[in-house]
Amino acid sequence: MLTDNHGRKINYLRLAVTDRCNLRCFYCMPEEGNNWLARTELMSWEEMLRICRVMTGMGINKIRITGGEPFVRKDIMSFLSALSALPGLDQLTITTNGVLTTPLVPELKKMGIRAVNLSLDTLDRNRFLAITHRDELNNVLATMHALLAHNIEVKINAVVMEGRNIQDITTLVALTKELPVQVRFIEEMPFNGAESHYTTLQWDHVQILQTIKNSYPDIYKIPDPKYATAYNYKIPGHKGDIGIIAAYTRSFCGTCNRIRLTPQGTLKTCLYEGGGMNIKDLMRLGATDQELASAIISAVGTKAQDGHEAERTTHLNGIHQSMATIGG
Ligand code: SAM
Ligand code: SF4
Repeated sequence: MLTDNHGRKINYLRLAVTDRCNLRCFYCMPEEGNNWLARTELMSWEEMLRICRVMTGMGINKIRITGGEPFVRKDIMSFLSALSALPGLDQLTITTNGVLTTPLVPELKKMGIRAVNLSLDTLDRNRFLAITHRDELNNVLATMHALLAHNIEVKINAVVMEGRNIQDITTLVALTKELPVQVRFIEEMPFNGAESHYTTLQWDHVQILQTIKNSYPDIYKIPDPKYATAYNYKIPGHKGDIGIIAAYTRSFCGTCNRIRLTPQGTLKTCLYEGGGMNIKDLMRLGATDQELASAIISAVGTKAQDGHEAERTTHLNGIHQSMATIGG
């Protein structure tokens, strides 16, 4: 069992398999001028599988594949298939923008993937284009329906942004009436790979909830699962439910059970951490599995108490980081 320096059990890895993406969500990366990682800087599939095997041997039993956009990397399906067979792994989940995912859903189902997080900030084609710089809304919606048709649990991630999609909050909530999805509204974080466009966050979790309450006054709180990052709510008569993630306020850090691996193999014990230890380099220097495990234990032993401490102590220059290179 992997335990951090605050006595928290760490059992959840978020693995970003690429920094590349077929969308350009403005809150995540600039439209142009992205310095993509060279192929040799990326962990290979073999390296990723090895490190995941070491980690599942240490008590990691849940892995989420993220990025960049996971499905733009060649041979992702063979990797997922090999990963899904790792002993000790109870849950393999994916976060995707859904653009390329529809035809892959039956195979994902066969591998035993039971839950997918789909990023969708608006149901309006023009606003989708303005936010992501690509006209792909219909493909994302097709993926949502394909996942539901295959009984794969869908959580929709919607970043809430002043001047961009505030009018979509209630239309996204309305989706939960007929569809058994969880719509999760996420506070925008300052990881857009460029200059931050806000100094104080206007749309925090309190304001998001109030906006939903204005249209749905009978919304009520439901229990938050253990280790949840979202505050969970339900509207009477709706099939799905609502989550609000205080990603910037960082009120959920106390029960953190997660670590992250970036596409270049940096182990981050907190999303807001500036540095991190490079596991890929250790592997390429010939480290044994035992040595990798010891390095992971040491890194986890320095995990910050919360995202504020991580930001303070590791001198994060957040505005120049992209969520796609941190691994969202
Ligand atoms: N490309 C995939 C996708 O969009 O689902 C996976 C990677 S993406 C970085 C993972 C999640 O991070 C997405 O749900 C996205 O909305 C969220 N995200 C990216 N940048 C963010 C930011 N600045 N603030 C809050 N959430 C962000
Ligand atoms: Fe791509 Fe996901 Fe970032 Fe959007 S949030 S640019 S889909 S990695």
